[in-house]
Amino acid sequence: MTQSPDCPFCRIVAGQVLATIVYKDDLVTAFRDINPQAPTHILLVPNHHVAGMNEFAEGDANALTAILLAAREIARKEGIADSGYRLVANQGRDAGQSVFHLHFHLLGGRRMKWPPG
Ligand code: AMP
Ligand code: ZN
Repeated sequence: MTQSPDCPFCRIVAGQVLATIVYKDDLVTAFRDINPQAPTHILLVPNHHVAGMNEFAEGDANALTAILLAAREIARKEGIADSGYRLVANQGRDAGQSVFHLHFHLLGGRRMKWPPG
């Protein structure tokens, strides 16, 4: 599994940094955001290091599909499948990306605005 030594999310995947993991399989890990912006705020990451939306390749397709399936299942378990949720990835400076390991935010449990700020 490709890891990046100084990447905080690689360290969570490897179990070297504690996180509240809600789902894990061979391809994807999901854990609660340390600074939640909604009653449900979970991050889903590929287990291997990919810096962001600009970097993933065709070989990452299975991991990306696994993330979507896991997000849907987690939303159901969190009780927000019917009320609604948002799945979003921030890429780069203008979107406010702060961790450079691809991650999808799963947010729900409150009414959200559109467009995001
Ligand atoms: P982004 O701004 O899209 O790069 O989002 C990074 C997210 O990672 C933020 O919502 C942070 O609160 C969250 N975060 C950073 N470090 C950790 C950590 N160790 N455990 C859980 N969430 C984290
Ligand atoms: Zn990483």
